[in-house]
Amino acid sequence: MRFYTLASGSTGNCSLIVAGSGTDQVTVCLDCGIAQRTARQFAEAVGLALTSVDAVLLSHRHSDHSANIVPVAARARAPLYASEAALGTNTRTGWAELQRRNVEFRAIADRGSFQIGPLLITPVEVPHDADPTFGFIFEADGQRAAYFTDLGRTEVLQEAGLLDGIETLVLESNHDQQMLSRGPYPMALKERVGGNLGHLSNDQTSEFLAAAAPHGLKTLVLAHLSLKNNTPQLALAAAAQGLQQRGLSAVELVVAPARGPLRSAPQCK
Ligand SMILES: [Zn+2]
Ligand SMILES: [Zn+2]
Repeated sequence: MRFYTLASGSTGNCSLIVAGSGTDQVTVCLDCGIAQRTARQFAEAVGLALTSVDAVLLSHRHSDHSANIVPVAARARAPLYASEAALGTNTRTGWAELQRRNVEFRAIADRGSFQIGPLLITPVEVPHDADPTFGFIFEADGQRAAYFTDLGRTEVLQEAGLLDGIETLVLESNHDQQMLSRGPYPMALKERVGGNLGHLSNDQTSEFLAAAAPHGLKTLVLAHLSLKNNTPQLALAAAAQGLQQRGLSAVELVVAPARGPLRSAPQCK
């Protein structure tokens, strides 16, 4: 299984997950909040074709994740897996647009695992201010990977067994608390981002890692970093400290670029 982030953060999110091999190989597009053409170019840069993905998966309705989800599914003639509530009446992602573009819809729900070829996907509902918002566990080829961004708290990740055996973890490390509180955002937005239904701070991510990072973890990808209220150096330092406290100093630690793929995508081996 290979996990590629193509864009990450409030300016747009898009990832590709590749599982299986030969005629069994499948590629899934997780979220597309960047322009379709840009996503296609980023996919090509890692040798993948956005136009032939086997399924499209939506975490939640916020436009940095959903903006171009329907065009991507339509172009690839792939089914769209999302919650019914995420679609609604929005002109770009609503039911009418799905029908107009002939996109097949498949509803997802908390812990309702489903299979796409050799890839088993389990949506896990997380606390965020778009109801519902899902993170995901991906399992294939005897490997497990997980993707959790856009969540205000980490308790759900500490549920017994949830992250057991995870080798690749894509985890939000959105903001530095001091930069957020001193930064340019209006007070209401500061409260939203830092609140229980907002985004994980570097400290929250670090505390989670120190308490509950899975012991078999090989690669940690820090994701959804704020461009205004964080720096890769601060996020990396906080996460490294958390991993060290957990005795996981050997874990490969990288930041998902806001735009463009990670040069070497984590491979579960
Ligand atoms: Zn987001
Ligand atoms: Zn969001």
